[in-house]
Amino acid sequence: MEEKGRIGIPRALMFYRYFPLWKVFFEELGWRVIVSDGMGKRGKLIYFEDSCLPMKLLITHSMDLKEKVDFLFVPRIVSLHRHFIMCPKFRGAPDIVRLATEGTVSILDETIDHRTKKDSMLRSFLKTGRQLGADEKEGKRAFQKAEQFLYHFQKGWEDRINRLPLNQLFQIDVPVPEEKKERPLRVAFVGHPYNLFDTDVNKDILSSARSLGMRIVTPEGLSENEISAQVSDLSKEIYWSSGREIVGSLFHFLSGGVDGVVFLTSFKCGIDALLQEFIKRRLKVRGGASIPFLVLTLDEHSGREGLTTRLEAFKDVMEERKSNSRIVT
Ligand code: SF4
Repeated sequence: MEEKGRIGIPRALMFYRYFPLWKVFFEELGWRVIVSDGMGKRGKLIYFEDSCLPMKLLITHSMDLKEKVDFLFVPRIVSLHRHFIMCPKFRGAPDIVRLATEGTVSILDETIDHRTKKDSMLRSFLKTGRQLGADEKEGKRAFQKAEQFLYHFQKGWEDRINRLPLNQLFQIDVPVPEEKKERPLRVAFVGHPYNLFDTDVNKDILSSARSLGMRIVTPEGLSENEISAQVSDLSKEIYWSSGREIVGSLFHFLSGGVDGVVFLTSFKCGIDALLQEFIKRRLKVRGGASIPFLVLTLDEHSGREGLTTRLEAFKDVMEERKSNSRIVT
């Protein structure tokens, strides 16, 4: 198919969950997808306003792309759940990018709001498709193909996260290699997808975890029912879908199946600050965590050495607990 033009996708925020779907959708409609480089190549973060690191990265990556593409794709994600909403910054993300890029590039920013319509994602993509000249039939076909692709991609997630170099996690054409060695510890990492998988946010901490002998699991593998089971009895509802997912998955993993749980949070994230308080109180009521639990707060000043040192200490705690539990009394 002849290339119709270029769509730029900033490597930020929900890129770290939906990129496979976005890429296949645009390619099926004949557009070439260009993804921004990581900070490693650019080396400098653009400060647009006093914000959390993930939002600063969205601006930085958008600026990186603006002269290379015909459109930037920055959807206005209001809600990805029937009853719960995203952090308000997601709602304003396209406007912030528009301001930062000073109107030099067209932005595809259709709204996704699952509270209004169950098929809001499809509707949003059909509208985006129309802006790119695709009719409803072409848009639907491309979206269905993209959804199927995302489904298969997510099924292979645990292998990807444990076997691929972390900077290749979302290079969807790269084959996943065979497992090289057994890792004795099974550790859950929870947090917003961009905190978990953006190596510029987390200083590639998952690579450190793997080299310390940890097999990684993440909330990606959990079903809505498993999350719900952990949050349905809360006296106060968590309105943010990502916050609800974090709390639900965190308590799911704390209840068994792993040797420890690590919560990666963003400095200057109001939601994460509230979640930490909430988790602390809930743990207190339950008499503490039954397995080792670590909270790591990330910002642009976090250093890899400091994070790795804390992870090494955490590994010692998990190993000690494991060997104690083997002692028969
Ligand atoms: S949830 Fe927190 S880290 Fe994510 S965009 Fe909102 S403020 Fe930033």
